[in-house]
Amino acid sequence: MLAVLTGTLILLKFRDRMRKVYIDIRKEDGEMSKKRKRRIAKNRIRILFEEAKKAALADELERADRYVELARKIGMKHNVSLPSKYKRRFCKNCYSYLHPGRSCRVRLKDGILVSRCSGCGTINRYGYEDDEKNNQR
Ligand SMILES: [Zn+2]
Repeated sequence: MLAVLTGTLILLKFRDRMRKVYIDIRKEDGEMSKKRKRRIAKNRIRILFEEAKKAALADELERADRYVELARKIGMKHNVSLPSKYKRRFCKNCYSYLHPGRSCRVRLKDGILVSRCSGCGTINRYGYEDDEKNNQR
């Protein structure tokens, strides 16, 4: 009788502990979701653009375009807007990766950077005065 009772008590204690762990996991999951997922998304976007640059330098422009596509999709899914330094690295019309001399032609005129996409011919214009800092990063 006593053995059964202590057995039940241990079981109850165990169940309580498990419930606590389960609640803790759920709480953490809920808190982490948006903030943490966004942080991870930003990190992945950065990595994808780094890889896109490497691919473009290796003349693998299709792979670079694919990385841009993935980065944009991640941004859209987690509601993370791409930093302007990355927005300038792909064509606003066909979303192909823009690498000066490889997939776009760049001219500077009156404080405006004019970049013509070799894929679709769209002209993308950006102010470049404060962009010199961004390029060095
Ligand atoms: Zn284009």
